[in-house]
Amino acid sequence: MTDSYTNDVYLSLGSNVEPERHLSAAVALLDRFGAVLRISSVYETKPVGTPDQPVFLNAAVKLLTDLTLAEFQDKAVTWIENVLGRRRGEDPNAPRTIDIDVTLFNADAGMLAGRKIPDPKLLRHAFVAVPLAEIAPELIHPETGETMSRIARSMDSEHTIIGKRTDLSLDPPGRRPIDDTETGERSELIGCEGIETAIRAILRSVGEDPDREGLIGTPDRIRRMYAELTRGYRMDPTVLINEALFEVDYDELVIVKDIDYYSLCEHHLLPFFGQAHVGYLPRGKVLGLSKIPRIVEMYARRLQIQERMTRQIADFISETINPLGVAVVVEGVHMCSMMRGVKKDNVKMVTSSMLGGFRKSAKTRSEFMSLLGRPVAKE
Ligand code: ZN
Repeated sequence: MTDSYTNDVYLSLGSNVEPERHLSAAVALLDRFGAVLRISSVYETKPVGTPDQPVFLNAAVKLLTDLTLAEFQDKAVTWIENVLGRRRGEDPNAPRTIDIDVTLFNADAGMLAGRKIPDPKLLRHAFVAVPLAEIAPELIHPETGETMSRIARSMDSEHTIIGKRTDLSLDPPGRRPIDDTETGERSELIGCEGIETAIRAILRSVGEDPDREGLIGTPDRIRRMYAELTRGYRMDPTVLINEALFEVDYDELVIVKDIDYYSLCEHHLLPFFGQAHVGYLPRGKVLGLSKIPRIVEMYARRLQIQERMTRQIADFISETINPLGVAVVVEGVHMCSMMRGVKKDNVKMVTSSMLGGFRKSAKTRSEFMSLLGRPVAKE
């Protein structure tokens, strides 16, 4: 299934009742109504109006959808607020589980679906403007003609924004448990049947008794563990990306960073793990944001070397959506170099694969690296 996604929506999210949980849940639910493309950091802010209530957490989200504004308001916003227990109609300044406001809808301006677009709060409140400027600094306000970063800078944010919650990320990537029905993965138990016999042989050859009490269950546990750690061989890539390929008229850099992965090195069968960062320049097609971590997972859960895994992730994205360019940067620490031989504690290995526009243009590469918060190497 391929959808044609026609509308750009920028949203402002806020919560001061169990805000960590409610903001994460809202982002996950929003992904059902389109493709979540960008998510800001989480900002801690002071409540407006009634100061004696808990601080808020605020964030901005960019989403592509083919719902109209009225449909989006009705089907997505109202529904998610209901699901997350928001009660409207009381004191407008009362604590709330979730508040979702459409800040911008394409470049539309005026009274639309019963509300003012752009949301007037964008020009009044730093808790709306600052997170939005983080994900769309160059975006122009359709009425004032100012960029978002200029609007955010003009705010008195020192008195309302307490700071960023660097310990908290709303990116679904990596941290969300992989759901088998979404990955198209076949049974966990396929392919690992011979492992018990092999583990018993290993136990004997290191001088152990495989039948002693502590080891008796080990071969079976290891078989099941290997089924999990090598599940990437059994994930079906076409099912994995099914229903998450969107046609868009959108050519800005899409970036998903800090995707946690765990892999096994093929030389020693010891873990290597860290974070992967993926960026691409769309050419008419984008992937649902939550699919990128699953692509990383599909290649990490195999016997690997980090360089190849990096290239495979880039090649897969390139072949699937034919973008103008793909950049993949993988950071990893390798237990085989930490535990054995010349011990190199915590040495991080960084590999990268740059295709298309990222290979050709130093400017595109450096935009990507600066969005990752990494120093940019001089040409
Ligand atoms: Zn190794």
